[in-house]
Amino acid sequence: MSQQSLESWIEIPQDSDFTLANIPFGIFSDSFAGPRVGTRIGDTVVDLNALQSEGYLQGLGLPEGIFASSVLNPFMALGRSVAGLVRNRIIELFSADNQALQSNAEVQEKILRHDNQVVMCMPVNVGDYTDFYSSIEHATNVGKMFRDPDNALLPNWKYIPVGYHGRASSIVVSGTPVRRPNGQRKLPTEDAPTFGPCRTLDFELEMAFVTCKPTTLGETLTPKDAEEHIFGMVLFNDWSARDIQKWEYVPLGPYLGKSFASSVSPWVVTMDALEPFRTQGPKQDPAPLPYLECDVNANYDINLEVSIKPDGSHDEAKVCSSNYKYMYWNMLQQLAHQASNGCNINVGDMYASGTISGPTEDSFGSMLELSWAGSKTLPMPDGSERKFIQDGDTVIMRGHSGEGKNRVGFGEVKGQVLPAK
Ligand code: CA
Repeated sequence: MSQQSLESWIEIPQDSDFTLANIPFGIFSDSFAGPRVGTRIGDTVVDLNALQSEGYLQGLGLPEGIFASSVLNPFMALGRSVAGLVRNRIIELFSADNQALQSNAEVQEKILRHDNQVVMCMPVNVGDYTDFYSSIEHATNVGKMFRDPDNALLPNWKYIPVGYHGRASSIVVSGTPVRRPNGQRKLPTEDAPTFGPCRTLDFELEMAFVTCKPTTLGETLTPKDAEEHIFGMVLFNDWSARDIQKWEYVPLGPYLGKSFASSVSPWVVTMDALEPFRTQGPKQDPAPLPYLECDVNANYDINLEVSIKPDGSHDEAKVCSSNYKYMYWNMLQQLAHQASNGCNINVGDMYASGTISGPTEDSFGSMLELSWAGSKTLPMPDGSERKFIQDGDTVIMRGHSGEGKNRVGFGEVKGQVLPAK
């Protein structure tokens, strides 16, 4: 189906992330019923469970009640092709020239909600979560600060999509407050560590993809095969306690400095919607090993930005503008690498990109890099300054591709930091 400049009979505000070219999937609840599957067009949330009950989604191979679920996992498990049919049907039903729903006010009453009438919920039951480290600019910046400016990248980095297994249970939906963690931290000037509130709380600007097709234990994937396993993407803030992380990460890697919270945007944008924004990735030199060879364009041109809103301030300070296309390792390579040892993939796994930094100083995706390990400050709209995140600050990440009626966006992921307990 063509997605060129489609007009909808639903009002879509200018610069909305949720045009008819998008049609993401998410979980919402409202005063009428508990969590269920919906999509969003402009500022209107569409109840897909009610839409199916009213008979508008027939002939697509959908089980009865598939959208009554409180997570997207059962729907995602039907596979990308079924989700594509549903998305196309929704585009058709809400196109300006289609009268089926447009002329039926009674059904509209049952299926349409204003965005401010609903509460968005965690979209996916995340079984396993991996965090990669696939931005060459971020890995280089961190290497320069913490190791050797002349040999910032470790020898394995250009061969392996480096990653670690993160904590799935503490992934929360946008809007959930984030408590500043306590932990062990030790300044270089101190002889021994102390236990207390993190002093250098940070965000990491990331995106994550979720999987919709499992593999069995022992099965591997080529990057080409990985494509049909990837359902869609969300914005991902990998909150990071730098001082806790710095003390604990040797020799086994990130642990409690990361696992206190990660925040995701509530709408899962499908790979079908992002297809027009596919682009070539950076040249990979040396060439990847054969199991990671990828001859298709698998990067995506997605504009990303981060803002900080101090407690009590009406204004935000934009601190970073980056783009997902800077990723050195693409998600097909990441998933092929994940499965390369026979580790099984499940429906609802979440794979985060790693901090997405660009080449310029204003495109760095963490306060660690923006303040260059605390050696610089960033101005806030209320006159204060930041090196890291303070209590009461709200961190907001946004992302979108394209413009106008072809714009496909993620909305936002935000979280306010509460003081340590
Ligand atoms: Ca990370």
